[in-house]
Amino acid sequence: EISICWLRRDLRLNDNAALYHALKSNYPILVLFIFDENILSKLTNKADARVTFIHQALTKIQDELAEKGSSLLVKHGKPEEIWQTILKEYHVKAVYANHDYEPYARERDMVIGETLKSHSINFYTFKDQVVFEKDEVVKTDGKPYTVFTPYYRVWLKKLNDFYLKSYHATPYFKNLLSIKSLPFPSLKEIGFEKSTRHFPSSNFEVKLNKYDQERDYPAADATTRLGIHLRFGTVSIRAVVKEALKQGADKWLSELAWREFYMMILWHFPYSATHSFKPAYDNIIWRNNESEFVAWCKGETGYPLVDAGMRQLNATGFMHNRVRMVVASFLCKHLLIDWRWGEAYFAKKLLDYDQASNIGGWQWACGSGNDAAPYFRVFNPALQLKKFDPKMEYVYQWAPAYKLALAPVPIVNHEFARDRALNAYKKALN
Ligand code: FAD
Repeated sequence: EISICWLRRDLRLNDNAALYHALKSNYPILVLFIFDENILSKLTNKADARVTFIHQALTKIQDELAEKGSSLLVKHGKPEEIWQTILKEYHVKAVYANHDYEPYARERDMVIGETLKSHSINFYTFKDQVVFEKDEVVKTDGKPYTVFTPYYRVWLKKLNDFYLKSYHATPYFKNLLSIKSLPFPSLKEIGFEKSTRHFPSSNFEVKLNKYDQERDYPAADATTRLGIHLRFGTVSIRAVVKEALKQGADKWLSELAWREFYMMILWHFPYSATHSFKPAYDNIIWRNNESEFVAWCKGETGYPLVDAGMRQLNATGFMHNRVRMVVASFLCKHLLIDWRWGEAYFAKKLLDYDQASNIGGWQWACGSGNDAAPYFRVFNPALQLKKFDPKMEYVYQWAPAYKLALAPVPIVNHEFARDRALNAYKKALN
């Protein structure tokens, strides 16, 4: 008999809650990862860099497990079907996994939980990807916060060493199932190609000194680029938060709390994945002009900061946070294109794509979210440029045509677009 630890977006062996608890139980532990066909089949780019990233993270885990005389079990298919075959291949006592808060993941885990239950197998799940999850930071009446500031006040007050203690698994690795290396599919075998994209380092201990002063300036490159590592769990949030406290990086700490805030919101309000958090905003009559959308995607709007941002995204899979706000606001307000179109484009392109933060960021920019920018605050892309990239360093790096004065003419006049947006919003909200 064995027990299984099922990795999903927690791709590391150390300081992993589910694996720690699994290893402390009484049965040999087999570590499993499933390349989920329900998710992979939706990816249109066969060289999607995120699949390469996952594959690399799993290769590292496989090597670490082999060193310990064990192996990763890697499967490819639909989780419901894969579990049926696993239950035929192995005599499973219990399954361990970490909580996953996205609507699809909740549904998946419910279905698998039922399957396991029907075989009298316990399914144990743990908090791992956040310091505080769904119901841990709530109002005194038990209802979720929908505004960040009071949420963060309580989040900070609650934060102590207990919640940041790492799950130190080393003494228990001897409880891994002893087994020769199992077959490990290549990217090709799961229908993908290797991406040549550069991945940011997972080292977060160096960059924080400049964060508070420079994080809003895209040319300064003063942020950590940890997003992809937090997304796939190749770093532990507890270690990251401990580092923030050690360095007194208060602003950075609050950004990490935004991440948890948005996960909490998506958990309590799953409808907000596809609808405006504030329902009246679903009444906005979007223009949804397709050729304007394509111009925005390609970075051909004639607004330097918007174009540079979209080109950085297309070339690298990353966009600076300040510029994400500007391009998102531009799409929803200047072009009056449904925020869901922009959200879907980011989902396709961002290495650090995370459903909760992406929906949160888009609804914030559009005005439809909880704790969002008020709708009448329309970012002026020219002023944003003046303030945050005054020497045009960022723009020249990503959209060098502006240096040669070869840029396209603005797709729309700012004042005209601003008035048009305000009218459309007012109409919907009255
Ligand atoms: P740092 O500034 O170094 O921050 C460290 C980590 O904190 C980030 O990696 C991220 O996990 C978290 N974080 C920072 N800022 C935010 C924030 N505002 N909201 C939530 N978490 C935050 N972030 C994503 O992780 N995935 C997304 O898909 C995503 N989509 C966004 C869409 C829009 C329209 C906007 C305005 C923001 C979005 N963000 C998203 C938030 C933010 O832009 C990125 O987290 C940040 O730019 C990533 O860069 P970094 O890793 O260098 O972050």
